[in-house]
Amino acid sequence: MANKTNIRTASASISIPKLRSEFKDRVIAPGDPDYDKARTVFYGGVDKHPAVIIKVADTNDVVRVVNLARESGLELAVRSGGHSTAGHSVSEGGIVLDLSNMKGLEIDTESRTAWAETGLTAGELTTALGAHGLAVGFGDTGSVGIGGITLGGGVGYLVRKYGLTIDNLLAAEVVTADGQIRHVDEQTHPDLFWAIRGGGGNFGVVTRFKFRLHKVPSVVGGMLILPATPEKIAGFIAESEAAPEELSGIGNVMTAPPMPFLPAEVHGKLIIMALLVYAGEAEAGERALAPFRALATPYADMLKPMTYPEIYPPEEGAGEYHPVAASLTMFVDRVDRSVAETIVDHLHSSSASMAVAQLRVLGGALARVPVDATAFAHRNSKIMVNIAALYEKPEDKATHEAWVADFASALRQSDKGAYVNFLAEEGEERIHAAYPGATWDRLAEVKARYDPTNLFHLNQNIQPVSA
Ligand code: FAD
Repeated sequence: MANKTNIRTASASISIPKLRSEFKDRVIAPGDPDYDKARTVFYGGVDKHPAVIIKVADTNDVVRVVNLARESGLELAVRSGGHSTAGHSVSEGGIVLDLSNMKGLEIDTESRTAWAETGLTAGELTTALGAHGLAVGFGDTGSVGIGGITLGGGVGYLVRKYGLTIDNLLAAEVVTADGQIRHVDEQTHPDLFWAIRGGGGNFGVVTRFKFRLHKVPSVVGGMLILPATPEKIAGFIAESEAAPEELSGIGNVMTAPPMPFLPAEVHGKLIIMALLVYAGEAEAGERALAPFRALATPYADMLKPMTYPEIYPPEEGAGEYHPVAASLTMFVDRVDRSVAETIVDHLHSSSASMAVAQLRVLGGALARVPVDATAFAHRNSKIMVNIAALYEKPEDKATHEAWVADFASALRQSDKGAYVNFLAEEGEERIHAAYPGATWDRLAEVKARYDPTNLFHLNQNIQPVSA
């Protein structure tokens, strides 16, 4: 590809040589050897060619890139860990503000707080905090960026004990569309602080978060693999609901991949791949996990006492794995035997290389926060379900999307909500499902105050509406 030096759009142009002189080696443009790697995001099937990728070094860089985007009229994509389900952290023809070099971290063990820059991944931050026996909960995957997961809510292995990631957010530094650096917390810009706790990247670039930390010196947890009959699935959910709040987990109901620790005769069978964490004393943890082990003779039992960062084992082929998936996020009120039968039937009927129904029982600390306290509105939701079909051939897209839609409509109960961090490109109605009623109206007003021209629109977008 030719090395383009000047990129023109309808409204303006940017000069790559000028940017290189301003941002030194942090500018990557078409034709550069690392361009293709730098424009690649986690999910496959996203093939966008930005005009420039700027790897910002600090908050002042962020201000300059935000100003550049506003003044040039080029589309702005903001990237932390690059795991957006919708591929929102890269732009076709625009500017990518890549935060991945911003990994500054200040831990205050006295006050049990930390300021963390948003180029850190969940795994990196968890490991650094773990060295002090401290933790804040993120999700199930270490390579997810703390930027995206925190801004959308953050549902992970400490959710029932300590709430969502945002329930442990004390403050943030945000560069808004006007290029201002704003400190936000309950006292300063409380409207913005409310909005960034669930409202995603709509309101500005968050350069760093201040988290409240918890003492989590050790946990009991890991992977437990059980046969996935309707009875066992319903039993797994019932035990998850009955478990103490120290226990949070995920039940991935799926066809067993040929994992080396599984007997060959299990490969291809439907399993519950449970990922469980008991955040507390080992003995109590063993007691809390016993009912899960008793559900059936496990195909594999890797539950053990461990340090919290061990929940993020090294990700094989990290950086090379780019799955393509049809997926859908929803909440259900119950998974009884008949719902579990629906799950089993649909998983059996999929032709995907991997089809999965991921089930997470919520409640606990997450549910004790008032619905209107943050922009995450699903405090009363009982069980989060994420349906996904991974596939290889683009021509099979429609088949797998139809399977996902059919499965979801068979599962649908009274809860019509959606979790923003698992939304793909699904249209405005689904964004409203993530931000129902008053939450949407309030977000739209805050958007109008801080981003009236919708500079930050590569996200699950909330259009600005003045009150
Ligand atoms: P990015 O693609 O970099 O960003 C996602 C969105 O947030 C984009 O719109 C981006 O512009 C915006 N953004 C990112 N950083 C900033 C910032 N600093 N300032 C402003 N805007 C920003 N979620 C859970 O809650 N729990 C889980 O267990 C979980 N597991 C996952 C596992 C996998 C394999 C994947 C792919 C996703 C998972 N998620 C989970 C969803 C995840 O939280 C979202 O995809 C999240 O948005 C990814 O964050 P990121 O920073 O990696 O992504």
